[in-house]
Amino acid sequence: MVDLQSQYKHLKDKIDNSVINVIEDATFINGPSVRSFQNNLENYLNIKHVIPCANGTDALQIAMMGLNLKPGDEVITADFTFAATVEVIALLNLTPVLVDVDLKTFNIDCDKIRKAITPKTKAIVPVHLFGQSANMDEIIKIAQDYNLFIIEDNAQAIGAKYQLSSGKKVKTGTIGDIGTTSFFPSKNLGCYGDGGALFTNNDDLAHKIRGIVNHGMYKRYHHDVVGVNSRLDSIQAAILDVKLPHLDSYNKSRQNAAIKYSESLSTVKDIIIPKIGNDCTQICNNCDCHVFHQYTIRILNKKRDGLAKYLSDLNIPFGIYYPIPLHRQKAYLDSRYNEEDFSNTNLLCEQVISLPMHSELELDQINFICDKIKFFLK
Ligand SMILES: *Cc1c(COP(=O)(O)O)cnc(C)c1O
Repeated sequence: MVDLQSQYKHLKDKIDNSVINVIEDATFINGPSVRSFQNNLENYLNIKHVIPCANGTDALQIAMMGLNLKPGDEVITADFTFAATVEVIALLNLTPVLVDVDLKTFNIDCDKIRKAITPKTKAIVPVHLFGQSANMDEIIKIAQDYNLFIIEDNAQAIGAKYQLSSGKKVKTGTIGDIGTTSFFPSKNLGCYGDGGALFTNNDDLAHKIRGIVNHGMYKRYHHDVVGVNSRLDSIQAAILDVKLPHLDSYNKSRQNAAIKYSESLSTVKDIIIPKIGNDCTQICNNCDCHVFHQYTIRILNKKRDGLAKYLSDLNIPFGIYYPIPLHRQKAYLDSRYNEEDFSNTNLLCEQVISLPMHSELELDQINFICDKIKFFLK
């Protein structure tokens, strides 16, 4: 699904040197590389504050702690996403409220957000799934109407842009009160272990969060709030600092691979290729609103599982993201949910398949994969 070795080979000398520097200087925790990467990511995202932390799941949890959400507060998020998003809501004794997604973009359905709002609702967590922004204009409107916080889960979309209704283009993760991301190795900007970060333009919130990631400490050995220990290692920061200048070109390579897949698969019977929302009506060469963390197609007429079996027999990698809707996961069952409210997620879980996608994908490989898929579905 991903080819991290080829990507490393292109930057080997720089990455090796940056890691050796940290080891020789023994600046393993909160070393200069962490500050440097933080500043460079702030510039890249055009945001006032980046707060690095240990992983993308922690980032979500810390965001909710930073916003002072209290047990019983309801937090709305998408039914079709990785479990981390809903997990931290439950872990903090907040009440997760899952809502269905849009069939075309795979992102949270804004009409269904409105229907799910109660007097206890405090926050919305849109997930920019597979590398494409959720409908942030509408989510901002809802948040304003009901006085809700927005936490953007940007783990899959770092570098993606979103054009606001004002015409201004901004990076995803910088639109809500807080954005969070993950530097898990296979993410669009991945380190060589675990890593994550929070983004905000709010000075007070940034200050609060910097304390929370460090045991709730604002002055050495004075613990003002309950915090956690969540740090980005200096070695990981050094690696990320080498890779960050290449993120746009990595994302461009992913977009080019997506264009090739779509050209080849768009007319195939029983396939729906991914739709690019947010004003773009087609995948265009200049499109920067989808960074294709995954290239995910829908396979109709119950042929998905057969195709998956066929691909695995040929040793062609693929992923099923995600096979089970969150509202049907044992840990998150809730008697308030009705199956008919989740018809899109239910359908997607039966239809989606994600094809190999990374910055080093070759045209031959794409053609080979597409030929096999076409052969199976013909
Ligand atoms: C990867 C991911 C996370 C969690 O990130 P980790 O660094 O693995 O903790 C959270 N949300 C989404 C949507 C993700 O894809």
